Amino acid sequence: MAIKRCPHGKIASMCYICGADEARTRLNKLEADLETLRMRLAACSVVALANSPKSAANARNMHDNYKSASLDDVIRAVDREMKLRADNKMLLSVLEEIASDVDGSWQQGIADRAIKGLSLND
Ligand SMILES: [Zn+2]
Repeated sequence: MAIKRCPHGKIASMCYICGADEARTRLNKLEADLETLRMRLAACSVVALANSPKSAANARNMHDNYKSASLDDVIRAVDREMKLRADNKMLLSVLEEIASDVDGSWQQGIADRAIKGLSLND
């Protein structure tokens, strides 16, 4: 079996020039991968902060390279947040309507406490 030699006449696995080329190629690939991951992380941050329907739609419009399973998790969390805020707003308006109809009764105190709790979460 013939010994495989590199273009520099060395045994392929022993050539520092070829080894340096391989290392440079690997470094370039790792730097590109790192940049993609950095952009995916930035995408998670941008999407996490966009929590209104309009801003969410805008923030989620991005190149496929920056999408990830983690981004999908962030999207689901923000969707839950927007749904809960909408539910909170609806419940608050219902409670305010109830509170306006029950002056001075024990139900008034309950409604007032519930309104205060929902308002703190808005
Ligand atoms: Zn070589």
